[in-house]
Amino acid sequence: MHQQDPPDSFGSLDVTELFCARCQRSQPVRKHLLLVLPNGNQFDLRCAVCGESVGHKTDNDQQTFADTLKLS
Ligand SMILES: [Zn+2]
Repeated sequence: MHQQDPPDSFGSLDVTELFCARCQRSQPVRKHLLLVLPNGNQFDLRCAVCGESVGHKTDNDQQTFADTLKLS
């Protein structure tokens, strides 16, 4: 078995830098999926360096919810 990484698992276009209070500087953020909703997904944005939560993001991608229903 050889597992292939999804091409957009890291460094996707909507990943930005935000100010991190713990690092006292702007840091790249990583998205952690919090909630999958019928009208979009809620993400926790965390500092990629220290893991501090630096914000939240909601997209309106309804495909993930549809996929979740199919998988379960
Ligand atoms: Zn940080």
